[in-house]
Amino acid sequence: MSKKFDVIIIGSGFGGAVTACRLAEAGAKVLVLERGRRWQVKDYPRQAGDAWLYEHTYPQKFNGWLDLRIYKGMLVAVGAGVGGGSLCYSSVVVKATSQRFEEGWPPEITYDELLPYYEKVRTMMNVREIPSGQYTKRYKLLRQAAKKLGYGDRFKSLPLALSFDPEWNYDLPDPLNSNNSKTYINPQGQEQGTCIHLGNCDLGCEVKAKNTLDLNYIPRAEQKGAEVRPLHMVRYIEPDGQGYRVIFDRIEDGRLVRGEEHSEKVVLAAGSLGSTEILLRCRDQYKTLPKISKVLGHNWSANANVLTPDFYPQGSQVEQSIGPTISGGLEFMDGSIDGQRFIIEDDGFPNLLLNALNDKLGSSESSLLTFVLRDRLKRGVDEKNPLKNLMVWLGAGVDASDGQLFLGRQWFKFWKRDLQLKWDPSRSQKVIDSILKIHHKLSEVNGGKLEPLPVMATVHPLGGCKMGNNFNDGVVNHCGEVFGYQNLYVADGSIVPKAIGRNPSMTIGALAERVAHLITN
Ligand SMILES: Cc1cc2nc3c(=O)[nH]c(=O)nc-3n(C[C@H](O)[C@H](O)[C@H](O)COP(=O)(O)OP(=O)(O)OC[C@H]3O[C@@H](n4cnc5c(N)ncnc54)[C@H](O)[C@@H]3O)c2cc1C
Ligand code: SF4
Repeated sequence: MSKKFDVIIIGSGFGGAVTACRLAEAGAKVLVLERGRRWQVKDYPRQAGDAWLYEHTYPQKFNGWLDLRIYKGMLVAVGAGVGGGSLCYSSVVVKATSQRFEEGWPPEITYDELLPYYEKVRTMMNVREIPSGQYTKRYKLLRQAAKKLGYGDRFKSLPLALSFDPEWNYDLPDPLNSNNSKTYINPQGQEQGTCIHLGNCDLGCEVKAKNTLDLNYIPRAEQKGAEVRPLHMVRYIEPDGQGYRVIFDRIEDGRLVRGEEHSEKVVLAAGSLGSTEILLRCRDQYKTLPKISKVLGHNWSANANVLTPDFYPQGSQVEQSIGPTISGGLEFMDGSIDGQRFIIEDDGFPNLLLNALNDKLGSSESSLLTFVLRDRLKRGVDEKNPLKNLMVWLGAGVDASDGQLFLGRQWFKFWKRDLQLKWDPSRSQKVIDSILKIHHKLSEVNGGKLEPLPVMATVHPLGGCKMGNNFNDGVVNHCGEVFGYQNLYVADGSIVPKAIGRNPSMTIGALAERVAHLITN
């Protein structure tokens, strides 16, 4: 049995990167096992045949950018790779409101208790607002609609984990040209660039203007001796007398190769779906951790995500794919709309066609002729882009947090049990309707046409291994330690016991900072 590590951390998103960094800084020998790749800019998905998707049941074949799960009534999207959800997220790094901690959490977790940990995350993620000379058209559309509706005082710039050059602006010649991105070395010694509004935040930023975990917490962990192993899919954990054995499959040349490592402590940080699935398998399939609480899988939340496309007349030019994916927000966390609590944000998404073209043409030989042809072609594609006049409104809110993750069989795969979700929207309908009502108003007031999606989708899955006061109402205690299993911790979005109602990464990061602090002190 190997004795190389003090702590094994499973997953490298907000929970995993933060705990790896802080535990390594405290002198622990840390191993991080991450199922996804270690992405380089040149490998970001751009073309049709690129590695877009991560298929968690066949990771040896599909270990791409985004893990999309289709459950009955709910589509869930999560990141995969060293850096987890930070690779594909929209960089909104915002605290939860203090009221969110007033019920449903163990008494030790309060807003004031989390403040110093929030501050650590804010510093490491280098959070700031978009400079006033760089507001996007989407930002201005939201601000204008809010003013017209009398909600002007609710509108605000959101804190973003992005690097901006205050001198950059849309009036520069060829503003989106990568030559306008200024490179610099960040406090963790990594080279980054400043934002030139390419709008590809969710698909990987070519100029490294996004302050992702693989550019801050993870390099810091590695500088302190942590080892990060990408393409390692953890299957289960079992106690072995002196700690735990972690059993994984290494993804190698299209095959899965079984392996294991041992450590005294284990921190699960595989996200709401990942950590819950691993613990469900340990309790119900492999029976290696049979004493885990019966509330495992319960209180899952979609954080009331509501994405609504909104079409504007030709020529309105919303330019949804230019600029940071999200930069403005409209707050309704005070319950003034039908007693519901939520936030609305301007959501963009990348221009896939233009990306693909840039990717192809970028590699062709440079001469004056190819330059002119390339420029014409790009402009043609851009001008004919039917999505230029499309706005997407994102809502996030406080839903009933009453979903349940469990291992179930499907008739066409009756021999194996997969992670499944029971999701009944009825108790969350009010907040969903309130968000949609505001989406409608924002659209109407500026002459748009809203086309609500027929399915619910979330990019903010939370819960499954909720924090609680005891074994009967929680999977982990306020320190993140699993009830019944000493030195086994969970530190990610799965421990959040109820919806946060805003973008959750900063709260997850702050909780992970606290878990790491309590492990080391
Ligand atoms: C498109 C998109 C946009 C978003 N925008 C924002 C935003 O602007 N602001 C915000 O706050 N949040 C945003 N989010 C949500 C945010 O990314 C998540 O809330 C956050 O990343 C969750 O952190 P986590 O540590 O719980 O899990 P993750 O960050 O998802 O990390 C879990 C990691 O564990 C790995 N893993 C899973 N299973 C295993 C296994 N069995 N073995 C080994 N490794 C495993 C995964 O590959 C992943 O890297 C967005 C999400 C998406 C998808
Ligand atoms: S808008 Fe473009 S340059 Fe700015 S962070 Fe997003 S992808 Fe990077």
